[in-house]
Amino acid sequence: MQQYAEILEKTRSRKKEIRKLCNVLKTKKPGWMDELFHQTHEHVFDEIDCLNCANCCKTTGPLFTSKDVERIGAYLKMKPGEFTEKFLRIDEDQDYVLKQVPCAFLLSDNRCSIYEVRPKACRDYPHTNRRDMHEIIDLTYKNAFICPAVARIFELIEKKLHK
Ligand code: SF4
Ligand code: SF4
Repeated sequence: MQQYAEILEKTRSRKKEIRKLCNVLKTKKPGWMDELFHQTHEHVFDEIDCLNCANCCKTTGPLFTSKDVERIGAYLKMKPGEFTEKFLRIDEDQDYVLKQVPCAFLLSDNRCSIYEVRPKACRDYPHTNRRDMHEIIDLTYKNAFICPAVARIFELIEKKLHK
């Protein structure tokens, strides 16, 4: 298994090819694409351990919905307003995001200190096992430069398509 930083580095040098692959995938049937992503997702996450990575928590962070704020606030015994004031800001799309990265809840061993109540976006990231992958292919393309698992998924899909 290649090192995670190396995987991302390789992906950065292959931007054009991955863009091209995404354009090809956009022409495929949604159900077929879901199956291809889901199978490859399972395979890749058998190889990759998020606890050895945490790049999403270190460099990006999630969007926080009002339900996330209420749930995490209650867990930390903070009122939603207090939680928002302390940890969040509003971004250019008017979404609540982390004030800063790495995420304040990331521990030094890459575990999440609010794991049981973490934002839905963290639970779902990198979204490669959800339905209707064709709707988020451009987002998945962007995630290939953040998440080594997504980068590997594209690498394996590319190989499968060229068999
Ligand atoms: S989801 Fe991707 S970026 Fe986040 S920790 Fe796992 S492998 Fe790393
Ligand atoms: S809340 Fe937890 S899982 Fe989400 S970005 Fe922060 S440390 Fe990572």
